[in-house]
This record gives sequence, structure tokens and C-alpha cells, in this order.
Amino acid sequence: ILGFAASGCLGAGVLVVFAGESKPQAQAIASDSKVAKAGTGKKRVVVLGTGWGGMSFLKNLDSTLYDVSIVAPRNYFVFTPLLPSVTSGSVEARSIIEPVRRIVRSKGKQVQFHEAECIKIDAANKTVVCRDVSQMGPSDKKEFALQYDYLVVAVGATTNTFDTKGVLEYCHFLKEVYDAEKIKKSILTCFESASLPHVKEEVRKKLLSFVIVGGGPTGVEFAAELHDFIHDDLLNLYPHLHNDVKITLVQSGDHILNTYDERISKYAEQKFTREGIHVNTGCRVLGVQAGAIDFKIKSTGQLVNLPYGMIVWSTGIGTRPVIADFMSQIEQNDRRVLATDEWLRIKNCEGTFGIGDCASIEQRRVVEDVSYLFQLADKTNSGRLTIEEFVEVMEQVRQRYPQINIYMERQHMRGVLELLADAIKDGRQASIQLDIDHFKQAISKVDSQMKSMPATAQVAAQQGEYLAHCFNHMTAEVASHMAPEGPMRIRGKGRHRFQPFQYQHLGQFAPLGGEKAAYELPGDWVSIGRSTQWLWYSVYASKQVSWRTRTLVVFDWTKRMFFGRDSSRVE
Ligand code: FAD
Repeated sequence: ILGFAASGCLGAGVLVVFAGESKPQAQAIASDSKVAKAGTGKKRVVVLGTGWGGMSFLKNLDSTLYDVSIVAPRNYFVFTPLLPSVTSGSVEARSIIEPVRRIVRSKGKQVQFHEAECIKIDAANKTVVCRDVSQMGPSDKKEFALQYDYLVVAVGATTNTFDTKGVLEYCHFLKEVYDAEKIKKSILTCFESASLPHVKEEVRKKLLSFVIVGGGPTGVEFAAELHDFIHDDLLNLYPHLHNDVKITLVQSGDHILNTYDERISKYAEQKFTREGIHVNTGCRVLGVQAGAIDFKIKSTGQLVNLPYGMIVWSTGIGTRPVIADFMSQIEQNDRRVLATDEWLRIKNCEGTFGIGDCASIEQRRVVEDVSYLFQLADKTNSGRLTIEEFVEVMEQVRQRYPQINIYMERQHMRGVLELLADAIKDGRQASIQLDIDHFKQAISKVDSQMKSMPATAQVAAQQGEYLAHCFNHMTAEVASHMAPEGPMRIRGKGRHRFQPFQYQHLGQFAPLGGEKAAYELPGDWVSIGRSTQWLWYSVYASKQVSWRTRTLVVFDWTKRMFFGRDSSRVE
């Protein structure tokens, strides 16, 4: 009788690799170095990272209330969803980055920016140790320390290699602007080298064999960009190489885009196959060597040795060393990302908050709630609920999962209302038949979606905004003499001062090349085709961080439509 539509979340997996400073070393640095102190009497907030999480936090924070410092090894924000477009020159690298200082100034924020890498979070002393990453400055004194009252950790993640042999040495990654530029140069180098007169056919084919490992959104978008770059632009300039180009996508799961709706995943596979992109699903990569990759087809056990000219590795996210070290201090060693509660407070570490790809909300509460709801549904006599039980179940669901949109189909709704009206009129007991299996399915879908919050810009930005609002609110309470200890329990009542963070899933795009894209909306809606690509253009233009980048990006797209992509290999 009832249906549920849930707005969903996806997942992020990580491996821990750490080689950091030992604690005594870091303490020595902290005491040796000039520890920044605020003379304003305001609480000191240190933000690590200038990505989606960090910048969203800063943009929404009332910076007059705190002494704010931001630390990151890069002094700009990157609009990561357009990184694959940089690999083909559809968009210039400069068009998708914005200097942090400019963002901060345009928003009228009073914050200090330090271009440095945090190498140690010293939780016991509420200090972060940072290192100047520039080549300039004194070579003997590269480290400094900052003390904090509140620390916002938004350092993102690295690429996960799953410790596969040869990946670090031979593969390209696609995380940063310089990665995208390196990939573009590498593609053009392969074409130029393959065009040289002395190159034999076998070598030419190898040079023009492009391999992408990972069939997630980034791998698929890159494959689509590469295909368009080669077929729309490069083959017009290198027509003699037409028969030698090969693009291969290697994916460990059974389908590409397997976190998307099945219709999108199938459409993408069929489109790629039609266009000559070799999609190898169900494959486990065994190792990468110079010029060749070894993988095993899981279903047949067959071993494949595939030569390549260029290879891109895009298989999920890994843990940054500084986070691995931090986790070891706060008894979170067995985790892959920092565990936070629903108020984004890092577990076992007072005064610290984790947002974006480096953290995830621990889901114990959700699992407990779901089993409670199962019990409630099970005790209801094979699905027959009294009106009171029905109302109770609905109330529980509504309270605990506000992100679930409960909907009743019109005819069912009418049925329920008629039943209720009859019961009231006759003064008799009424009951409602509930499809328990449907109910359970809906709840477990929400549970699995909530267990794995996606590692996306959407989540990071929403978390940054949420946390900034908590911080803005927290200080108002300080003024009215309440404890300024952040989102905490109000003693005795078991209630929280702030609503927990709730992720609003706005859907996800998958650009598939050839001016076609797919869009999965919350609920069960899917849109695929050319009009979706235009929607993609409008959404991504509107989401730009400034009018400068918006103008540049739109200009780049227009330029590409008239003149094609640039194919010069500038060193
Ligand atoms: P980031 O944005 O990665 O920022 C991390 C920041 O921390 C950076 O400023 C970095 O310099 C800094 N930092 C790193 N180490 C340190 C340190 N030791 N000390 C201090 N600072 C440090 N998501 C979507 O929602 N939609 C998309 O279409 C999409 N496309 C993507 C395409 C690509 C190619 C990639 C790589 C990602 C894409 N994502 C997309 C995912 C999205 O970019 C991430 O989920 C998002 O960037 C996470 O934000 P963050 O703030 O956690 O980390």
C-alpha cells in the first residue's frame, strides 16, 4: 500500500598508507617554531584544505566571530568536475581554478591563508604542524605550528592504488590540475611519437593504445573526453593513424558506472561499445609495468597482457598520510576515513571536525534504527497494522529519516482515507494492510545508501555549509553565556542543540561524450541524451565559484564548438 522514495548517498573506500613524523619529533617542531597566537580573545579556528569542503565552510562562516586561519599546499580552489575536460583541452586549466585569496576577499572574509602542507595534527596539544612546500624561503626552517581551539579537517583524499604493483611508477592519476595537464601532454606525445617515420607498426599501435583503469564516474568521463578529443580533433590532424588508435576501459565490477541507475550504466556500456571503446568489466588488475598492464578476467581466469602508450588509474580514494597518523592518535586506526558523528565532530577528539572525502559519518545509529523499525514491522501480525500502529510506524520513519519522501499512490491514498472515514463513522477498529516486504526493501535501501555517504563535491560542500552555520550559531550562544563547546547534547534532555547534518542528494551527472550526458535524479528518475548535456552545461556554469571562472568556462566551451580543441603540446 505504501511506497518510499529516498534521496540517496554513495560510498568512499580508502586504504591506509602512512609514513609520517613521530609524535616527539612533531612536538619538538611545535615548541621550536613560532606558534601562532591570537591576540583578539576570539576562538582560533584552523581549516585544513582549500577544496570543496574547506571553501564552502569559509564562504558561509561569519569570520568576524573567530580568528580564522586556513592551511593548504595549493593557494587556489579547483572545480574538480571539470578536470576531465582539461585533459582534452575542452576547458583550459586556468578556467577552473580560483585563487583562495580572491575568494576570501570577494566574500569580505577576515582570514589568514598559509600556503603549506599540514604534516602533523597534534590532538593532545591542539596544534597543527605545517611545512612550507614552496622551493623558496629558508631551507633550514620549513616548519611552523598553529594552535587551534577548533580544527576543521578538509584535506580530501589521495588516489587508492590498492597496493597494486607498478601503479605509482607508471600510471597517471586525475586528482589535480597538474595531473590533467600532464595527461593532455602525454596523449599528444603519444600521437607525435607514433607519427615519426622510423616507428614500426607494432610500436605505433602500442603508443596509441590508451588504457583507463576504473569504470566509476571519473574513469568513464575521462574515457568519453579522450574518445571525443581523438575522434573530433586529433584524427583530423593525424589521419594516417586512424586504424591504430585503441581505447580500453578496465573495470573490476560487473558494470561501469555501477553506483548509478542500471539504465545509465547499460546505456553507457552500449554507447562505448558502439563507438569502439573496449569495455572490459569483471577484471582484476595484477600489476602495471612500463608499457603493459596485466589483468585477469575473473569469470574465465584468463590472464591478459595489454600494451599501452598511456594509462590512467582512477579507482577510488585513499587516505592521506597526515590523516592516517591522526587516526592512530585518536584510536581510529582500523578505519579508512575519519569517523565523525552526525554533527561532523571527529570521534574521540574534542574540538575537531571532519568534512569532505577525508571523513565519514559513523552509521551505528542508522543501523540500530533500522533494526528497530524492522522489529516494529515484524511484530505487526503479518503486515496487518492497526491505525495506531500505522501512525506510529510513519512517525518513526518521518522522525528518524526526514530525507525519505513517503508517498502513497493516489488510489491507495483514497483507499486509506475511505477506510479511516468508515472506521470513524462506525466507531469500529480499522486496520491497514502494509506491504512489509516493500517496507523492508525501502528501509534497507536507505540504510545502505546512508551507510556509504558518497565522496563527492556535493557532500563536501553541504557539510562545509552546515558546519559554518553551526559555528555561526555557536557563538551567538556564547554571547548568552552558554557553553561554547560546539554541537553537543543538552544535558538531561537527550536532545541536541543543532539538527544533525542531513545530506540532500540533488542527483548526479555522467557526461558520456558525443554531446550526450546522463542525469540521475533523486527518486527513480533518469534523463539521458543531448538535452541532458545542455542541462549539464547550465548546471556546471551556474555552479562556478566566481563570475571570472564562469565566463572563462563558457568561453572555452564556445571556443571549442567553433575551433575545436587545442592540440599543441606546450611544455
Ligand atoms: P578536495 O576538494 O580534494 O580538497 C582537499 C584540499 O586539502 C585541497 O586544497 C588540498 O590542497 C588540501 N590538502 C591536501 N593535503 C593537505 C595537507 N596535508 N594539509 C593541508 N591541506 C591539504 N564530485 C561531484 O560531486 N561531482 C562531480 O562531477 C565530480 N567530479 C570529479 C572529477 C574528478 C576528476 C575528481 C578527482 C573528483 C570529482 N568529484 C566530483 C569528487 C569531488 O571533487 C570530491 O569529492 C571533493 O573534491 C571533495 O572535497 P574535499 O574538500 O574533501 O577535498
